[in-house]
Amino acid sequence: MADGLFALLWVVITMLTLTFLGVGSAFAKRNFQSNVLIEAWERGPEHQEVPDDTLLIDFGYTGPQALYELMQKPGFDYLSRNGKIYYPVIRHVFITHQHGDHIGGLEEMAIMNMYVFGDRENGRPYKAQLISSRSILLNLWDNSLKGGLSAMRGRHALLQDYFYIRALQPGDSDKDHFTILKHYRFRPFATDHIQIERKYDWPSYGLFVEDTQSGESAFFSGDTRFDYPAYAPMLQQAKICFHEVQLFDEPSPVHATLTELRTLPGPIRHKTWLYHYSDDWDSKPFEDVNGLFAGFAEPHRRYVIFG
Ligand SMILES: [Zn+2]
Ligand SMILES: [Zn+2]
Repeated sequence: MADGLFALLWVVITMLTLTFLGVGSAFAKRNFQSNVLIEAWERGPEHQEVPDDTLLIDFGYTGPQALYELMQKPGFDYLSRNGKIYYPVIRHVFITHQHGDHIGGLEEMAIMNMYVFGDRENGRPYKAQLISSRSILLNLWDNSLKGGLSAMRGRHALLQDYFYIRALQPGDSDKDHFTILKHYRFRPFATDHIQIERKYDWPSYGLFVEDTQSGESAFFSGDTRFDYPAYAPMLQQAKICFHEVQLFDEPSPVHATLTELRTLPGPIRHKTWLYHYSDDWDSKPFEDVNGLFAGFAEPHRRYVIFG
């Protein structure tokens, strides 16, 4: 009894929060692109100004401007220093896939961490940990970032000059996930976003997040077509879901249309926030979304995922 009481007193109340830098589609202009700041807290934002760990899910070409606006909001001042985005507070970055609305801000982050926030005395850059599947990381450098980042005075740079690289291997149970604050586990799952010839042949990922202490979980779709059969077990299990949406119908979409998402079972719809939407979300045809679903996700709002 006394031991149990002692243990109870020492349970640390931790928290995981999710804040959208933007909730827009790739081409939205009223909202920034759908990139996310995850914050892990030992005690929670009410009790500490700086989270104990941070993770960006994607950082598109509107990401820097979105982060700049977020750092001016109450509770997010730790993201700034002397009027600039203080990139070293971003410890990890997970990349879901290679579209520009998900990776276009990485060049700025890499250059700022190399030349503005690096250690002047020893010349070393600050490096965030860059996490994704091995194939995405290889393509990310060879087909996207290399153009702007490989040139360095005196030599050709590599991705590892700018980031610590964490290559996951989906399907290998030891290497298919990463963890922050010891017990928040992020497990990527393949999404059906673009099919070159067949399903899953262009890598893209969503994230299933688990609190391994409480057993609770959350679902983050990443960019994907509607694929309820593939995601149903995760959508059913999760206490909160974030699903991308496309508001208009078309014959062969690469996103999940609202028409398709409306067919989800009620209990799943009601815990699902929609994001990655176009600029007409607040027009008449979509008035019922906030009743049918948890709602349209809002930018710059801290959603408590666990805690
Ligand atoms: Zn996108
Ligand atoms: Zn995409």
